[in-house]
Amino acid sequence: MANCRVATILPSTTCVLSWSTRRPEMTNFQPFPWRYIKEVLDSREFFFEQSMAFTKEEIGDDARACPDCGKQADDLTWVPVDTADETWPRGEGRSGFVTCCMECKNQIDFFVDDELTRLEAELRADGTSSQDLPWSETEPVG
Ligand SMILES: [Zn+2]
Repeated sequence: MANCRVATILPSTTCVLSWSTRRPEMTNFQPFPWRYIKEVLDSREFFFEQSMAFTKEEIGDDARACPDCGKQADDLTWVPVDTADETWPRGEGRSGFVTCCMECKNQIDFFVDDELTRLEAELRADGTSSQDLPWSETEPVG
């Protein structure tokens, strides 16, 4: 995976394979503010449900169940998210999906989608965003 970070800077080198498979990667993450999660869910029509279904199918096996109630990944709420506004100018912005158990208020896994991340980084470089739901990393999780 270390090579992939290099390839992000030098796209002509290795790791073309991991891009073309487009398999989102599970990663450690700081929980997103629940206020933000709810706003994303409320504005869901902006996202393609189909792409969500595809993502679920693609990575559902890697997603863990809720540690508290045992709800399986397929029954969790999958939320398309971007990392905090501050992360993007630093080159640390990531787009992907976080699996949530809304009943237990758990954010379980964050899957980073390289392609979505690249698209979002381009949009943000132009001063826009696919979500337009800004949040700051200083915001409490809530
Ligand atoms: Zn739960």
